[in-house]
Amino acid sequence: MRHDYDYLIIGAGMTADAAARGIREIDPAGSIGIVGDESDPPVRRPALSKDLWIDDDATLTGSTLDPAADTGAEVFLGQRITGLDPQGKVATSATGDEFGYGRALIATGGTPRHLDGLEPSEHVIYYRTVADYRRLREAAQPDTHAVVVGGGYIGSEIAAALSQNDVHVTMVFPEDAPGAGRFPTEIAEQVTARYGQAGVQLRAGTGVDSGHDTAEGVQLTLDDGSTLDADLVVVGLGLQPAGDLAESAGIDRSDDGGIVVDDHLRTSVDDVFAAGDVASYLDPRLGRRRVEHEDNATTMGQAAGRALAGADEKYAHTPMFYSDLFDLGYEAVGRMDPSLETDVVEQDGGSVVYYLDDGRVVGVLLWNVWNAVDAAKSVIESGTRPESGLLKS
Ligand code: NAD
Repeated sequence: MRHDYDYLIIGAGMTADAAARGIREIDPAGSIGIVGDESDPPVRRPALSKDLWIDDDATLTGSTLDPAADTGAEVFLGQRITGLDPQGKVATSATGDEFGYGRALIATGGTPRHLDGLEPSEHVIYYRTVADYRRLREAAQPDTHAVVVGGGYIGSEIAAALSQNDVHVTMVFPEDAPGAGRFPTEIAEQVTARYGQAGVQLRAGTGVDSGHDTAEGVQLTLDDGSTLDADLVVVGLGLQPAGDLAESAGIDRSDDGGIVVDDHLRTSVDDVFAAGDVASYLDPRLGRRRVEHEDNATTMGQAAGRALAGADEKYAHTPMFYSDLFDLGYEAVGRMDPSLETDVVEQDGGSVVYYLDDGRVVGVLLWNVWNAVDAAKSVIESGTRPESGLLKS
């Protein structure tokens, strides 16, 4: 079957939703098609690892986005686009449907990295989607034993979430502490103490080599040769950007597999744009980068929608990111790389961490410090930390 739209958005996540809204800010009437391979409508993804586990008032319905109702877009779910022909201006789905377009946006996000030999199942969840949330809810009964693999965003948040829902949790990760891939030692020690206090078992400094299903659940083989049994396993090993579609269309890609866009979010072929997790964009303060966070998804998505509809605006946003771990929380801007020189300053009962590259501030972590994101951006823009070390909001 053939469908034709003025604007075709490939991917149906938060970026796609924001893009449809961005289009409508400029063009009230143009037709919009959104095609995504997940079977659920777009959702505020952060809720899946935070609010829905810890806030009694949070619901999946309340976290769901509805671009069809709000923008008039036609939304196709459970349909994977497998081919893009920029000359013929048509995208093709796995089921053979054709989607013609005037302008297209690739907002395909990324796919979770998998462990060797460990297929997704009712006990093994590579955590990303609403379907994953539903499966984890079902499996995460009180007093079950969950092994959480990875100490990054998903691992840290889901381990805290499960532990607050009476699940026994063991975390396995190569770093010294949950989140230590981003935090300096002072903060990492606080995080370790908090997880310990909650009863989460930490297998720090350990990777998982492989795993297999057993009659009772799952057995993992760790890189120290030991094994670990679990009723369920939740994995957060990072994302592989879903840029393959661009490859087949001859669109330039970044070294990490993302899609290169210019300062108007245009790819290297005419009338095809990219945004969100998959897009390698030019940050005016930090240079070319790819970012996988909510603010990046929604702000770039909206800007891409406006660009699709003809707005001539330079994209100049530096995204913030945030996380909540038990009663600890933070906001941050820029590069959080603890291998850089770090400078930790106590402020307002929390800490501000400056990450310095060759003497220039390239990242600011606001650890339990709030309402200071704009000040942090200004510091990164100037490259110089405030003399007192304190950030004024
Ligand atoms: P991540 O990159 O944050 O963390 C990956 C973790 O896996 C690291 O701790 C790494 O050392 C570990 N790891 C790698 N190989 C391993 C192995 N063999 N055994 C054990 N551990 C191993 O990625 P993620 O946590 O999977 O997050 C996925 C995506 O979701 C990212 O795009 C992230 O930005 C996004 N996300 C963001 C937030 C937020 O902004 N608060 C929250 C949730 C998810």
